[in-house]
Amino acid sequence: MMACASVDHLIVGAGFAGSVCARVLADAGRSVHLVERRPHIGGNAYDTHDAAGVLIHPYGPHIFHTQAKRVIEFLSRFTDWRFYEHRVLAEVDGQLLPIPINRTTLNRLYGLNLSEDEAAAFIDRVRQPRDPIKTSEDVVLNSVGPDLCERFFRGYTRKQWGLDLSELSAGVAARIPTRSNDDDRYFTDTYQLMPLNGYTALFERMLAHPGIQVETGVDFAEARERIPHRHLIYTGPIDAYFGHRLGRLPYRSLSFEHEHLPGVERYQPVGTVNQPNQHAYTRTTEFKHITGQLHSGTSIVREYPQDVGDPYYPVPRPENEALFQRYAQLADAEQDVTFVGRLAQYRYYNMDQIVAAALKAAESLLA
Ligand code: FAD
Ligand code: UDP
Repeated sequence: MMACASVDHLIVGAGFAGSVCARVLADAGRSVHLVERRPHIGGNAYDTHDAAGVLIHPYGPHIFHTQAKRVIEFLSRFTDWRFYEHRVLAEVDGQLLPIPINRTTLNRLYGLNLSEDEAAAFIDRVRQPRDPIKTSEDVVLNSVGPDLCERFFRGYTRKQWGLDLSELSAGVAARIPTRSNDDDRYFTDTYQLMPLNGYTALFERMLAHPGIQVETGVDFAEARERIPHRHLIYTGPIDAYFGHRLGRLPYRSLSFEHEHLPGVERYQPVGTVNQPNQHAYTRTTEFKHITGQLHSGTSIVREYPQDVGDPYYPVPRPENEALFQRYAQLADAEQDVTFVGRLAQYRYYNMDQIVAAALKAAESLLA
């Protein structure tokens, strides 16, 4: 019997991290074998049509936005785009108010009629300057003060993370800006675009290359010995790779409640409605806003945060970062293994940041 030829790269995980690496390496002539334990490609960005035919994101809403021209240029090889700017309302005191907090939020919440300058002065009056800014509580109090913190941030954060704002690193709440103007977009990035035919179609084109072999429904534990390889790219949780030998890194999980509403064309006025203070779920997203799909019914998802289940979010706080750094030292000592991705790098990264990290990782393997 002939010995199985060794591939140049075995890649674990078919999300953005693994798939971008696969394509860049294959384009350079390398042979790639990609294994994914789920029955599909795309990682958490995977999308599919539900039974009613509405395009949904089974792992929660994924909105693409970036400042990085290079990331858009790379992905544009595999998709056309649809312009989409995400808007979010938070249900507070029986009203649906813009979040990030802006002039409209203040005027409607407090029954005021502030101009933009007056809104800036209002925020300046209520904020509590903090120095140094270490936690997410520092961030929120420093930007909007205690009343707005309680109404918009503390409850949502407790639900989402199972922790108080004061227990989370500053970077978590720093994702949400404060505005004194009427800009009600969730993101202000230069490029705010959705893949025209969805993420899965984008991944299919990215992975369609004679140098890439993809196997879904296969775990690394099984593929490791079966597929001889010169080099490994691992995009799963870093502590799992090392058999949790230094202890488990905490991840936050979610359970998703998907629902199709036949005959309802519009369920809510914007893509996402946040629930900072009521209900067990954090937010409800209506996919048709995001995808632009026309359909006589609509499909929504509610997100229920939980401790157990698939790892979705690293939990940014100093003790977790310290444990991650110990794993990162083990990772540095591994021969011929590259760790890249949200769970492998234990970073609260958006999709574009993962694409950028994967481009960098793959290019360094070609240098
Ligand atoms: P993943 O997409 O998690 O892919 C890793 C893959 O590795 C998984 O498919 C997993 O099954 C596989 N794997 C792990 N271990 C093994 C193993 N042992 N064997 C085989 N396969 C394995 N980002 C945005 O930019 N905009 C958003 O709006 C946005 N919304 C989000 C909403 C939610 C609810 C979540 C959870 C994330 C969101 N993100 C968003 C972040 C985005 O999902 C990530 O940045 C991105 O998907 C990370 O890509 P990745 O390849 O690192 O990881
Ligand atoms: N956040 C909040 N209230 C909101 C929106 C966000 O308290 O209405 C806080 C919360 O801690 C959340 C973080 O800001 O986890 C980041 O929010 P983002 O919408 O970026 O979270 P993601 O989309 O990554 O789940």
